Amino acid sequence: MKFSRYNIDPIIKDNIEAQGFKKPTDIQFKSIPHILNGEDVLAIAQTGTGKTAAFAIPILHLVIANRKRTKGTKALILAPTHELALQTTKAFLTFAQGTAVRVVCVYGGVSQDEQIAQLQAGADVIIATPGRMFDLISQGAINLNELEILVLDEADHMLDLGFIKDINDLIKKLPSKRQTLFFSATIDREIKKLAYSMVNRPIRIQISPSNTVAKNVSHGVAFIEMDHKRFFLESFIKKYPAAKLLIFVRTKVRAERVKNALDRVEIESATLHGDMEQNEREDISNQFREGTLKILITTDLSARGVDIPNVDFVVNYDLPESSEIYVHRVGRTGRAAHKGTAISFCSPEERELLDYIQENLATKIETLSIDNDTYLETLNLELEAKNDWKSLIKANEVALAQKRKGKFKNQRKNK
Ligand code: ADP
Ligand code: MG
Repeated sequence: MKFSRYNIDPIIKDNIEAQGFKKPTDIQFKSIPHILNGEDVLAIAQTGTGKTAAFAIPILHLVIANRKRTKGTKALILAPTHELALQTTKAFLTFAQGTAVRVVCVYGGVSQDEQIAQLQAGADVIIATPGRMFDLISQGAINLNELEILVLDEADHMLDLGFIKDINDLIKKLPSKRQTLFFSATIDREIKKLAYSMVNRPIRIQISPSNTVAKNVSHGVAFIEMDHKRFFLESFIKKYPAAKLLIFVRTKVRAERVKNALDRVEIESATLHGDMEQNEREDISNQFREGTLKILITTDLSARGVDIPNVDFVVNYDLPESSEIYVHRVGRTGRAAHKGTAISFCSPEERELLDYIQENLATKIETLSIDNDTYLETLNLELEAKNDWKSLIKANEVALAQKRKGKFKNQRKNK
């Protein structure tokens, strides 16, 4: 199957081709025809399977096809975080290039004025996070009377962030005759309940069970003492100096600690977590996306759903809490057609957790054996680092002693 065979606007086809997309991914193949048909869709597919284009491409076609009929916003895409909203907007803008479709992104944490100005100029498609969207609806800056398509993207993440009431409130404001598309990486009872409260006789699409790691990702676990992890990370980074690495840790504090450890050995890295200012977060994600930044240390919450293409390695510096999160993390590498590799560092304290993850995972996590020599060699880095540290202290002490001596001399002279 090729994109060229779809009955969609030729400009969109050109834009897809310019993106380098050769053929639709599974989820795109299964969703696009139904969306073009005006049907409701409930789609479950893991991270990195191309869900954004699965709805962006057909929505743009429908908007172009219906644009002349009535004015007003035709499609609303709800996203859980501003990063995802921006990312989705970028995808829409890419596919919409050269068409007259106006795409506006609405999210909080920044001034409203620019967004209001854009909305006033006309918005065929709005991509929004819930909070700011409600603000702008209540101010009359967003009008959804003509809405034809509603998308709930990353629905599982929306629920995690507690947006359920917002979603339900929003639905009350929308025309009841509309097309609803529901996308999620995972499904459980709560998500199902929400989905069925929104959609009408949906086409159900489920790509692969949420506990399967994508085929193009090779992944394994290495057994490493907790205190030795940073040396293995260092040695790993040095082995692949050009690689793009996404490192997962358990907490924000751990993220900063790992960054400090890398700083000490002059490896450049950055952290991404919830305590950071929005601008800073965006800046870091962009740098990483563009590749000026190669090593990013993050927690699950900050990384979830953010599209980071071409990550060569995912490193689970700390094991995740569940097989589901494991699949999410590992899904950051090997996105779309790329090959990817993921490595988990497992300390003796984490052995039980590893077993639990493995039990609930359909794929086997291979053990990466590290022979004693290699293990010790890696720890030599530690010794060297310690030696350096010692010699540094020594050098410092000498300098201090000399300074003191000098001072005494001067004092004596002054007397
Ligand atoms: P998801 O929402 O399922 O996590 P995304 O929509 O963010 O996944 O897509 C993941 C990556 O795959 C993006 O970088 C996107 O550009 C790329 N991609 C999507 N569809 C295709 C395709 N048909 N061919 C090649 N790459 C694709
Ligand atoms: Mg997505």
